[in-house]
Amino acid sequence: MQSRTDKAEADITTHLKNPYDIVQGLLEDATTALGLNENVYHLLKQPMRMLEVSIPVRMDSGRIENFTGYRSQHLDILGPTKGGIRFHPDVNADEVKALSIWMSLKSAILNLPFGGGKGGIIVDPDKLSERELETLSRTYIEKITPLIGPQKDIPAPDINTSPRVMGWMIDEYDKLRGHNIPGMLTGKPVIIGGSAGRLAATGRGVAITIQEAAAFLGMELDGATAALQGFGNVGSMAAEFLHRLGVKITGITNAHGGIYDENGLDIPDIQEFVKKGNLVHTYPSAEPLTNEDVFGLPVDIFIPAAVENQITKNTAPAIQAKIVAEAANGPTTPEGDKIMEEKDIFVIPDILCNAGGVTVSYFEWVQNAMNYYWKEEEVNAKLTEKMKEGFQKVLDIRRKKQVRMRQAAYTAGIQHITKAFYARGWIE
Ligand code: GLU
Repeated sequence: MQSRTDKAEADITTHLKNPYDIVQGLLEDATTALGLNENVYHLLKQPMRMLEVSIPVRMDSGRIENFTGYRSQHLDILGPTKGGIRFHPDVNADEVKALSIWMSLKSAILNLPFGGGKGGIIVDPDKLSERELETLSRTYIEKITPLIGPQKDIPAPDINTSPRVMGWMIDEYDKLRGHNIPGMLTGKPVIIGGSAGRLAATGRGVAITIQEAAAFLGMELDGATAALQGFGNVGSMAAEFLHRLGVKITGITNAHGGIYDENGLDIPDIQEFVKKGNLVHTYPSAEPLTNEDVFGLPVDIFIPAAVENQITKNTAPAIQAKIVAEAANGPTTPEGDKIMEEKDIFVIPDILCNAGGVTVSYFEWVQNAMNYYWKEEEVNAKLTEKMKEGFQKVLDIRRKKQVRMRQAAYTAGIQHITKAFYARGWIE
């Protein structure tokens, strides 16, 4: 049986690792540091709307299984709410709420006309057949249909939700509405209104922020070294762009394990290997690497590109990198962050680092509204411009206020949203 002390410790750990508590703490600190009216914090600290749905799916066995899904809408004062849908066994209400707040901040930093939204379903998609997954995706959209739409709330991909899943979802929505509404969701296949460059956008954005950070720190990227935790869409694309810039990626891990090569891994070959359905850690031409050891690799750049709460008081002490680029949402706990501060690591915070995805989602939504589509080079050039602007804005606040990049990013996001609170007369 668990003793009372164990239970109390477990509670403390749970509390510290709850992303909703973490983001609320960061918002409170940032609004206080900015000397803002405390009403600003109260307006920001929770989503304006949160929907929980039950999604019955007839499984291949004939049995009905009920999955639980969520959609959180944080704030719609700058435009419709916007953010991805996550399929993951660890999805929970607080995580989805936190992720929707992070989406508001991301869009605000990059000056996109959106508020934050996020959705999720508690499911391990690897355990579902293709047909079960399609039914789940379609039924989820059916359940949240009253709340979404191109001027209301616009979903997109997130962990385990590919353009294929987006294709099923938009098809279901269009059927329910009776006509074609391409702007209701982004990250769709290009043939049905997706944007060129969207699939690679988050990883490309991560690489752009790393280039900006390296330029600021005087680090030469050609020949620099990096390690990644996570090799999903974002990690894999970020690795590809860095590889092209001459960065040697020596380690990659995911939940199953990973691979290491001190001379640099062959990223295009690993991408091919993974595309064929293989797991990264089974890649033959490299040494094995555990998920614990990836943090301590002797590299210049470390990229958490998986889930929340990876850089903690247990893993942060080992980090040797000079730059930590948060490709994942919420990868760092407050304790982990404090340790990185003590070590003087330059952190590119999640709400800036991974904002390239929602930026090209914005371009997709704009193209859908015009029914006029841009070439990939045009999309990429616009993305680069936005990411650089966002990075410089945050760097500038860091310098002026003598704070760290994370606090500067929160400041940039909160200041932007606060202007809208004033403009709408929500605060005096
Ligand atoms: N899921 C992505 C994110 O966390 C993209 C959201 C979007 O494109 O709306 O930023």
